[in-house]
Amino acid sequence: MSRVFNFSAGPSAFPEAVLEQAQRELLEWRDSGMSVMEMSHRGKHFSIIAEELESDLRQLLAVPENYQVLFLQGGASAQFSLIPQNILKDKTKACYIKTGAWSEKAIKDAAAYCEVVVSASSEASKFTSIPNPDEWQLDQDAAYLHYTSNETIHGVEFGEIPDSQGLPLVSDMSSNILSRKIDVSRFGLIYAGTQKNMGPAGVTVVIVRDDLVGFAQKTTPSVFNYAEQAKNQSMLNTPATYNWYLVGLVLKWLQGQGGVKAIEQRNIAKAGLLYSAIDESSLYHNPVEVSARSRMNVPFILADESLDKPFLAAAEANGLFELKGHRSVGGMRASIYNAMPEEGVKALIDFMAEFERTH
Ligand code: PMP
Repeated sequence: MSRVFNFSAGPSAFPEAVLEQAQRELLEWRDSGMSVMEMSHRGKHFSIIAEELESDLRQLLAVPENYQVLFLQGGASAQFSLIPQNILKDKTKACYIKTGAWSEKAIKDAAAYCEVVVSASSEASKFTSIPNPDEWQLDQDAAYLHYTSNETIHGVEFGEIPDSQGLPLVSDMSSNILSRKIDVSRFGLIYAGTQKNMGPAGVTVVIVRDDLVGFAQKTTPSVFNYAEQAKNQSMLNTPATYNWYLVGLVLKWLQGQGGVKAIEQRNIAKAGLLYSAIDESSLYHNPVEVSARSRMNVPFILADESLDKPFLAAAEANGLFELKGHRSVGGMRASIYNAMPEEGVKALIDFMAEFERTH
């Protein structure tokens, strides 16, 4: 067996210890006599997995009591339409901050359900910055303000939680949840797919404040109605049981690493090493404004595009995989989520220096 360093944007690298635990428990979970895959979601064993999953996530993010924690299906993309369907209440507008490809998609889907007010956009900078919050045009008649805390494709991340001026703040944290400390009480709703920092694809976490629950539209399917799912512990229908279990293992791994505060320090260090290497080189370039650079997704372009293919081939030959940038922006992208060890980042940096020296 030879495992590589996997820089994929998601699904992405798992902590190896979690994969080993899943392997050990594949045929029998604890003393249940069966695999988690075979368990009824209503049975006593799976109930333990579900309870621990929720309580561990609440503990890691210090989720206050007045928030529901839901584990849904449909990916973060489903939430793009489900958020307006669930929390518009009697309003007809919602504000959005446009900072890249993912907020653009959120805006497009929400526009089918409400009037979208684009309160600020960094499109003019080709999504390489975060619009100055002092200049955001917030509409006080809006039901909420939505932003994407980390733009996975453009490599742009909010360093601070923005001031929503009283509007319920909604954030797509798909690609940076659990990577840095956040004050959940600042938010009305947080959502994230699990396939980056939390486990495999197939589960969508929605953390929503109680006062925003119970307002789904009549046409919203029950399984996507926050109130219905909250009442049923996210088991209105059969949940993605094995994925819940895997997410639970990743959360326990993170607790073992010292929790979010400790992993944040490691993420700062890893990203710092990689950005320094890029900034010091004359072959590689990261176009994002320094204050808006993502700790999770580090895009970089090579000064000579004809070197892209040789770079990727040589990287793979050195055990460094999935470095190709998103097709919409080109170049390279190294995703360095919680599970990427510093050793992997250092191996990438050494490889990049050697490639620059020989090209
Ligand atoms: N939002 C962000 C920030 C993402 O990075 C992604 C996936 N890469 C999505 C939403 C969509 O997630 P999903 O594929 O789970 O629908």
